[in-house]
Amino acid sequence: MIPFHSNSRQHDALAAELAQAIGSVDLADDTAFARSVETFEGLLADYSQAGSAVAVASGTDALIIALRALDAPAGAEVITCDFGFYATAASIIMAGFTPVFVDVEPGRMVMDLDAVRDAITPNTAAIVPVHLFGEAIDMPALRQLADQHSLAVVEDVAQALGARTGGKHVGTFGTASGISFNWSKHLSSFSNGGAVLTNDPEIAARARSLRGHGNAGGFRHTRMGLNSRLNPFEAALLSTKLPHLDTWITRRREIAARYTKNFASCGHVVTPTATEPEAHVYHKYTIQVPDRDGLRKRLADQAIGTLVCYPVLLHDQPAFEGHALRAHSFTRAADVAAGVISIPVYPELTDGEVDAISEAIIAYVDSVA
Ligand SMILES: *Cc1c(COP(=O)(O)O)cnc(C)c1O
Repeated sequence: MIPFHSNSRQHDALAAELAQAIGSVDLADDTAFARSVETFEGLLADYSQAGSAVAVASGTDALIIALRALDAPAGAEVITCDFGFYATAASIIMAGFTPVFVDVEPGRMVMDLDAVRDAITPNTAAIVPVHLFGEAIDMPALRQLADQHSLAVVEDVAQALGARTGGKHVGTFGTASGISFNWSKHLSSFSNGGAVLTNDPEIAARARSLRGHGNAGGFRHTRMGLNSRLNPFEAALLSTKLPHLDTWITRRREIAARYTKNFASCGHVVTPTATEPEAHVYHKYTIQVPDRDGLRKRLADQAIGTLVCYPVLLHDQPAFEGHALRAHSFTRAADVAAGVISIPVYPELTDGEVDAISEAIIAYVDSVA
């Protein structure tokens, strides 16, 4: 059995370190809890070379807080990609804005900057680029476009912590960014966790206030915030895991390269591409194949777990019915959503497992193509 995602091999290897991290939070010291969170915030800011990290309870909260910290007018338009995870769009709506969805770039699964340019109106306040599956968007180009139109940029880095473009970490190009440490992410907590990154001290101060109900001191609440704090035990565990992240990313890249080499012999698997080697951390390894649903079933019969990320375009999510939104163009995104399947890529997979998964996929795809 090869599950689609599992942390058990990672946690088994780090069991002693993780137990020590939990034990190091002194239950009898009230200040130990805040310190544990502050220590993690410092390590995270150092790792990603960001001015500040503000830890919160989840990646979704991080995006809502980053968006509210912009102080943009209620109902303003926020442009993001139509192909992606529900939480990005939900955060835009929960922050009080109107999502505008655009297509993916030709041949890639990330937001098309030409489509973003076409979607800008006088009501646009911000762009939310998503570094989907761990692949960095061309942030210098996006930043230039945003600056030309005086728009804020909130990066969704939930799947891409550690990815760099032009030597600079994603999450540090925008006005602010949101990271997730949920169970399935490549830097995972045991339940939920998230953080806002920013180089702007004013945005950092607002994010700190917003995670505590927008309290400006003395129970005077100046913005509608959330009650969203990172659990101090999760912070201690994350501080222990963070120094391993680059080793894990290196192994993810090795596995991705092995898959891509294996699939090169078969003409029917579209493999992910990275514009620069350091621009992709392979949070997910997502391919496009003919008869995706048939392949998924065949792999399940062979005890290989997969996930379809993501079958439903965001403008079409039933939960958003009745909410103001705009779908600008989505032809390529619809084709991508119909053909994608994500396969196991966690760093503890063996080369033998990667080859067995590749062979099972090639055998099925060759038989139906
Ligand atoms: C996981 C994820 C989120 C939300 O993070 P949570 O910690 O689960 O709330 C947001 N955006 C993307 C792209 C994600 O993958």
